Amino acid sequence: MELTGKNIIGASFSGEGQDSFYAVNPGSGAQLTTAFKEATASEIDKAIALAVQAFKSYRTKSGNEKAAFLDSIADEIIALGDDLIQGCMQETGLPEARLIGERGRTVNQLKLFASLLRDGSWVDARIDNADPERKPVPKPDVRSMQRALGPVGVFGASNFPLAFSVAGGDTVSALAAGCTVVVKAHPAHPGTCERVGYAIQQAVRKSGMPEGTFSMVQGKSTAVGLSLVRHPMIKAIGFTGSFRGGKALFDEAAKRSEPIPVYAEMGSTNPVFILPGILREKSETIAKDFAASVTLGVGQFCTNPGLVFLQQSDDERKFKSTLSDAIKVMDPGVMLTGDIRNNFKRGLAKLKDAKGVQVLAQAKDEKTNHDASAHILHSDVNSFLSETLLEEEVFGPSSVIISGKSKDELLLAASKLGGHLTATIHGTEDDLKNYADLIAVLEQKVGRLVINGYPTGVEVCHAMVHGGPYPSTSDSRTTSVGTLAITRFARPVCYQNFPSFLLPDELKNDNPLKIWRMVDGERRKD
Ligand code: NAP
Repeated sequence: MELTGKNIIGASFSGEGQDSFYAVNPGSGAQLTTAFKEATASEIDKAIALAVQAFKSYRTKSGNEKAAFLDSIADEIIALGDDLIQGCMQETGLPEARLIGERGRTVNQLKLFASLLRDGSWVDARIDNADPERKPVPKPDVRSMQRALGPVGVFGASNFPLAFSVAGGDTVSALAAGCTVVVKAHPAHPGTCERVGYAIQQAVRKSGMPEGTFSMVQGKSTAVGLSLVRHPMIKAIGFTGSFRGGKALFDEAAKRSEPIPVYAEMGSTNPVFILPGILREKSETIAKDFAASVTLGVGQFCTNPGLVFLQQSDDERKFKSTLSDAIKVMDPGVMLTGDIRNNFKRGLAKLKDAKGVQVLAQAKDEKTNHDASAHILHSDVNSFLSETLLEEEVFGPSSVIISGKSKDELLLAASKLGGHLTATIHGTEDDLKNYADLIAVLEQKVGRLVINGYPTGVEVCHAMVHGGPYPSTSDSRTTSVGTLAITRFARPVCYQNFPSFLLPDELKNDNPLKIWRMVDGERRKD
């Protein structure tokens, strides 16, 4: 499809504004040709007014109707064909195979949520039947289920231009919950955003959903995003991106006269612990696999392993030497945007200057102003305990190895950790038994614990938790990946002494939808 550079306001394309911006090819630094119109205040208002109007009927759509809509979005994304992939490659510098894989992930995510809606049990229906004979007071009839929050604002990240962007996990889980959505397109891939936004717009029309179910506004200035967060009719925000961005939006939402939830999924350093037994057995394999994990996608993953803890020993020295050898022969890689590269270089320079930190290995020199070389740094537990910088995310291909003198030192370091998305433990069975106390500490620090694997690669499934305590997210009780993400955009509503004809189908006595419910304290489907 031909790009318009305009905003998607319900069923229309709109480009009222005077200001425009261009995407940049990160590999060459060349400006791409389409001028994208910054959304004006009036366009943002229109998008939100339509979302408010649409919410009145969209919230009442059945699970099957919403499921058909999500399936239709998936079909429309596939129908965009190679234009989507080629355009996205130009805007992000990401390779074709990676983007084809990411499109598959995005489409499968839509289909997974569609199957969740067809099953219908996600609403967590609870029924406590009345007991008029109860003494000393009769028990009322009390029923509850999850209902949609209202219009939601969504911000995607640059590093997953499909799976964490316009039709990514936040949009899909909000639409699945019954919320209408206004997306703030990411200025690093505005054309990709327009194409995917168009696919959703088509799906809205073809599925007979109300016009304002979905809109998307473009903007390079933070003003566009901030207007979304400040708008009194927006009831929640889904954000994936940097700590700085997520915290700014969270603070902004807290200042509103009606504060709203901001589900900000931010950065993380994802500590890895390599225990002594496995290091003795497999130091070489782990070092090579680790080098691949740190540099995967030029390190531009929120689950990139940025911190590694191990105990000093001959095996630890062997690990460091194999890792260094693996890193030194690696080519530099193109980063997603000039800003991300600048931030990476700035973060790396600060790390190199930090007390007690040395450079252990550096990949081959950068060839252009657009690529970045992987770095492995080294420090010790004492420095880690006294320097908070070592735990901060440096988004890109780098990792800091922290060596401790003893198990107690590793436990001290683990206790000092803040919140992260993941923690990984490499260990033999004996290691894992001997370090059960370490695992108990880490369980309090992260959303996902990985044994003998790598944190990169987040499976989209029912049990996934892609979240974690602050500062990795703004709300540790949720996830942004997997079907549990739907609960962020719904709230429980209780119906007391309602006549049957007024109850939603999910709560009627005869259970017409045949969903799982808790009836008088028992899980039942009949
Ligand atoms: P980003 O710079 O924070 O941008 C994300 C979005 O937020 C953009 O649309 C951006 O728009 C907007 N934004 C940022 N700061 C803002 C502010 N102060 N006011 C209003 N809007 C603001 O993040 P990114 O560079 O695209 O993505 C990389 C980061 O995302 C990394 O830190 C990575 O770890 C994280 N990430 C996290 C996850 C996760 O699931 N936890 C997944 C992927 C990536 P503007 O550009 O217009 O400001």
